[in-house]
Formats: sequence, structure tokens, C-alpha cells
Amino acid sequence: MISLSQVSKRYPGGLEALKDITFTIETGEMAFVTGHSGAGKSTLLNLIAAIEAPSSGTIVINGQNLGQLRPAAIPFLRRNFGLIFQDHKLLYDRSVFDNVMLPLEITGFDQGEAAKRTRAALDKVGLLGREKTMPIALSGGEQQRLCIARAIVHRPAILLADEPTGNLDSNYASEILEMFKSFNQVGVTVLIATHDEHLIERYSARTLHLQHGELLA
Ligand code: ADP
Ligand code: ADP
Repeated sequence: MISLSQVSKRYPGGLEALKDITFTIETGEMAFVTGHSGAGKSTLLNLIAAIEAPSSGTIVINGQNLGQLRPAAIPFLRRNFGLIFQDHKLLYDRSVFDNVMLPLEITGFDQGEAAKRTRAALDKVGLLGREKTMPIALSGGEQQRLCIARAIVHRPAILLADEPTGNLDSNYASEILEMFKSFNQVGVTVLIATHDEHLIERYSARTLHLQHGELLA
């Protein structure tokens, strides 16, 4: 469960990127956040992932009030999330396999278990068989699928994706959205930020519309 109550975010310099945002996303729900560039979509995801703190208001993730978390608890909170963010770059000097396995090793999985989960994650995004390939040799759509494999390999309860179809043509974009839908169908809570309203028209998921930092009814 993701719950925001009267959340505002003012950046240094005075710009209010989010104003009095209140909503709840239930466990197992899939929802979209839409709005033009600058509407506050990325800011919203960054607050939910505790990458940024709100200026005011309350954010509760799986029963944990983020404002009451000790800094030491934040890495544990983050394990609830799979993040597919535009600035989360792939490691271009590592293979497809290593890109997915490294985050698991860093959090202390043993090699055998990490390798097993890595193959399972690559299988889910259709990249099994490309393990030894370097990311640069993948198409744009495949690179995005690799990012998704890396985000789901630790089996997070919540997937947060910021413009996951940003640079892809519409066939690839639908493919990526279908993938999110299939994760949602096995119980993962999914929140996707996109400016592309056409793309999401076909999905019955709830849509939160942001306009200049405000949530439209
Ligand atoms: P979107 O993802 O919908 O394009 P953002 O959340 O990135 O919107 O941005 C919302 C507003 O906040 C924009 O006006 C943007 O310029 C501003 N903004 C975003 N990040 C920062 C930052 N780190 N410092 C100052 N202003 C920011
Ligand atoms: P820094 O920006 O210095 O790395 P953090 O982002 O780790 O700091 O958070 C600094 C403090 O803000 C922490 O005590 C944390 O509990 C709080 N904090 C971080 N994210 C949120 C959030 N989304 N909501 C409320 N408090 C938060």
C-alpha cells in the first residue's frame, strides 16, 4: 500500500513541484501517473521511493511512515521497490547477466541463489539466451527490458517506473506495458509515470492526472 496525505514538495529556490497531494494505491493495484512535462511525475515517484523527502505531508509505504524512518532504515525500505528510472544507467562494461546479478550480490545473496534468480528475471523479460551479450549490443527495447529484469530480480512488492516507454516506438512500448501488467497479475503493485496518454488509454488501470503539481479530480 502506498498512501500520501497532503503531500507537498517545494524545491530550494521556491518552486512548488507538488501541492497537497492525497491518494492511496492499494496492494496489488496498477496505476498510471500522467501529466505534461514538469507536472511533477518524477518528483512524486522520488518521494514514494524515499529518494527525496516531502516539504510537508505524510507518506506511508506498507504501513511505514517515511517521515518517521531512521536514515538507517531507508535501504531496507528500498528493497520493497523495483525502480525503473530514466537515470538508472546500465553498466555498459558488464554483460547482461552481470547487470542483473550485481545488485543481488551487493545485498548479500550467495552466488548460486543470485544466479538462479538472475536467470529467472531474464526469462521473465525474454532475455534468457542473451546473458553473455553486452548491453550496447541490445536494441533500445531490449535494453529497457534489461532494466526491468534488474528492477524485479529481488522480487519487489512495488514497481515504480518513470517514463519506461520514453524512447520506444509504440510496438515496443505496448510490449513493455504488457510486461508490467503481467507482474501486476501476480500481485505486484505497479505505478507508472508517463506523459503518453494515448498509450495508456487501452488499459483499465486507474490514472492519476497531475497538472502543475496538483492532482486533478
Ligand atoms: P515531470 O516528471 O512531470 O516532468 P518533475 O517532477 O520532473 O516533472 O518536475 C516538476 C517541477 O519541479 C518542474 O518544474 C521541475 O523543473 C522542478 N524540479 C524537478 N526536480 C527539481 C530539482 N531537483 N530542483 C529544483 N526543481 C526541480
Ligand atoms: P539525504 O538526502 O541526506 O541522503 P535521505 O534522503 O536519506 O537524506 O533522508 C533524510 C531524512 O529525510 C531521513 O531522516 C528520512 O527519514 C527522511 N526522509 C527521506 N525520504 C522521506 C520521505 N519520502 N518522507 C518523509 N521523510 C523522508
